[in-house]
Amino acid sequence: MGRFGALSVGFVIMLAIMGPPLFGAAAARIDLDAIGRSPSLMHWFGTDALGRDILLRVLVASRLSLLLSVAATVIGVVVGLGLGSARSLFGPIAGRIADAPIAISQAFPSLLLVLFFAAAFGVSTRGSVLAIGLAIAPFFARLAQTLTASVETMDYVAAARICGVGRFRVLTRHILPNVAEPLVLNIALTLGGVILSFAGLSFLGIGIQPPVYDWGALINDGLVEFYVNPMAAIGPGLVVCLAGVGFNFLGEALSRGKIAPGTFSARTAPHEQSLDDAHPLAIDTREAVLALRDLRVNYPGPGGAVTPVRGVSFAIEPGQAVGLIGESGSGKSQTALAIAQLIEAPARVTWETLEFDGTIVADMDEADRNRLLGTAMAMVFQNPMSSFNPARRLGLQIADGARRHQQLGRRAAVARAIERLGQVGIRDAEKRARDYPHQFSGGMRQRAMIAMGLMSAPRLIIADEPTTALDASTQIRVLDLLARVRAEQRTALLLISHDLAVVQRICDRLIVMYAGRIIEDLPVAMLPHGARHPYSRALLATVPTLDVDRGRPLATIDGWAPSPADSVPGCAFAPRCGHVLARCHAERPMLEMAAVDHRLACWNPQTETGALVDA
Ligand code: SF4
Repeated sequence: MGRFGALSVGFVIMLAIMGPPLFGAAAARIDLDAIGRSPSLMHWFGTDALGRDILLRVLVASRLSLLLSVAATVIGVVVGLGLGSARSLFGPIAGRIADAPIAISQAFPSLLLVLFFAAAFGVSTRGSVLAIGLAIAPFFARLAQTLTASVETMDYVAAARICGVGRFRVLTRHILPNVAEPLVLNIALTLGGVILSFAGLSFLGIGIQPPVYDWGALINDGLVEFYVNPMAAIGPGLVVCLAGVGFNFLGEALSRGKIAPGTFSARTAPHEQSLDDAHPLAIDTREAVLALRDLRVNYPGPGGAVTPVRGVSFAIEPGQAVGLIGESGSGKSQTALAIAQLIEAPARVTWETLEFDGTIVADMDEADRNRLLGTAMAMVFQNPMSSFNPARRLGLQIADGARRHQQLGRRAAVARAIERLGQVGIRDAEKRARDYPHQFSGGMRQRAMIAMGLMSAPRLIIADEPTTALDASTQIRVLDLLARVRAEQRTALLLISHDLAVVQRICDRLIVMYAGRIIEDLPVAMLPHGARHPYSRALLATVPTLDVDRGRPLATIDGWAPSPADSVPGCAFAPRCGHVLARCHAERPMLEMAAVDHRLACWNPQTETGALVDA
């Protein structure tokens, strides 16, 4: 299929190049002695009503047929990409506005659209090009929407945004290069259909007008004498089929051989309402790098709002390492994304207080906010492979933030990127900076991610499961690197993890989340004996130790956490709790100070010895 497609397309392109100069004059020559001849050795497809050789006219028509098809396809691709990328470029409202014409036009068969536009633009060559181009635009718009949506969720796009890279640059640098392959394959497929559409329009007499002619016009001419000389219509029809099928086969073969890879626009605002929680913070927020009070994240869902974060409050001091821990779905990653302003509309992110390095984030305009977050906050994502743009060299990606926020030139920014790569232990950093992400191992990519975060001496690093995808020894190296960076630069660290052992290794404080809320917050040093919430205790019990009895199954927590879509009246952990009281099902325990430096939300906390305290 691929070979046939490539040969056919190559043949048609060769005809388009060679046909007019070689046969143009002969094809135009009128021979009144040879009018309406049947196929012969002299005239393989016979002659037309003016004695012109039909085969030569077919060869000459190749160029115009192909050029017009390419022009219509280019129009369709450009208009389609523009509409399909409106959301990425201008935000969700523009995306919805652009979606309306796409959805409406997709409700009609494309042939009907072609005829409609052809009638609207008038019977002419230009009109038919525009008609076909606009008729295929909705297909490319939908394709662009789907492809960009799949890439937009990648961590490297989020990383570019947190660096303050503008929407247009994110689209052209980080999204389009990674959807180019399926786009090109679909262009090849579409081109075959466009050739057929042009032939169809000219055949109906509403395409190219005499004396200009393309394959469709020749079919139309040949139909008049079909019963005398069928080849007059079949001949150009065969070439149309060859070109159409050739482009389709080529596109199919390419798509089978190379499988397609696949705003801060969420409405964020301080609370307008008073709080139902007191939300005490364990530290003095005047010194905090990050002070967060009553953060909430809501997503609209078919059955009502889905609320993965339901009022989270904490603060982090300079140089402090805070571990945010909980099961999948507890809201820890959503909390981190909301702090980094990376949650997309239609989600709604609200807070009572969000201060970063003493600055109230809500008071800042978008440019200042991007600059602050791009220079003072670094984000290390879980999957280092998806955190980098696979189509760009690592050194350039790492240098991006410094070029944008510190106005460094390209050379200086790359030099700093190389220096940072060296600092995080990448050997031969100058050479490796020219590598692409796939040329780095998982651990090296994670270190490169940290190097990117260190480009501007950040005040806070948010690391979301930074070691989950790594083997044990690489995990330790990455954790030690984070600890070293924190110690050397007094950088605060918010470490999101489901692994208590990882948090215990490098954190000062531990915040335990369950069902979108903080249920316990205490210093890590207190953890072995001071954790009082039954869920924290249960998490502790699941951490295997070297002296664990290998003959017994590892401890687990029975049951499942409630869905973010569910609204539980009392304590969300009650169905799984071994210390539940009647009150737990009816009233939700508030997060309150249980002791100095210790916050707890439980009606029946456990004591240090494991015995229960009366609520
Ligand atoms: S409030 Fe009740 S159900 Fe919830 S963790 Fe505490 S004891 Fe268990």
